[in-house]
Amino acid sequence: MNKNKTKKLIIAGPCAIETKTQFYNTVDQIHHHSDIIRAGAWKARTCAESYPGIGTKALSWIQDVQEKYQTPVAIEVGTPNHVELAIKHNINIIWIGARTTVNPFYVEEIARSLEGSNLEVWVKNPIIADLKLWIGAIERFKKRGVKKIKAIHRGFFNEKKKSIYRNLPYWKLLKDFIKLSPHNSPIICDPSHIAGQKKYVYEIAEKAYKNHLGGLMLEVHCNPSQALSDKKQQLNPEEFKRLLSRLNEKY
Ligand code: PEP
Ligand code: MN
Repeated sequence: MNKNKTKKLIIAGPCAIETKTQFYNTVDQIHHHSDIIRAGAWKARTCAESYPGIGTKALSWIQDVQEKYQTPVAIEVGTPNHVELAIKHNINIIWIGARTTVNPFYVEEIARSLEGSNLEVWVKNPIIADLKLWIGAIERFKKRGVKKIKAIHRGFFNEKKKSIYRNLPYWKLLKDFIKLSPHNSPIICDPSHIAGQKKYVYEIAEKAYKNHLGGLMLEVHCNPSQALSDKKQQLNPEEFKRLLSRLNEKY
């Protein structure tokens, strides 16, 4: 075991909050192993027929979970209204999804709505591999006074579908991002959305550690086979804990 290891930030939780029971049950099993819980209330889905998330109803559960487990919860926002609702429910960490980062109009509006707040913002890379768009989004938040920012690497659109992964990690491009980005925002890897299948999550997480990224954002569901979104890539709580202990043994 490496005695000089640096502490990695562990963010874990379901892709989407589906029911109160599913959310509480998942958090109950993982909160001792997570610094921050992730959970989608509103889901920006590619297809109109896909599960859109439970919405505003989940926010009071999130507020309660934060108090009950003394663990912060982060959610995705896509509009200034989401930001307003998050603030109202004492949710202090929000992230910008890959489908929102691509649009400077949305990013600007969300950034403006954060002025004067003390929220932490995570910016996922845009779906397409355009580093300037990713950096530009981060800059918009900086410009509006957001102090705590993290970049989330969730991989890039796999156009030719030749890779085994759902989204391409482009590790070399990530190095360019670090060089190009003037902000020094910590980078967290989201192995779940890169992998697309639970069997590849560990190897991506390991690669993130080898590339000295600051932590992991992992999708964990109490019963993945019944999940309403991203069911193939979500780990169950036991698989999640096993993954962490394997990584902790090695790094
Ligand atoms: C998610 O985190 O569940 C999600 C939808 O991610 P992305 O925006 O990276 O596709
Ligand atoms: Mn997801």
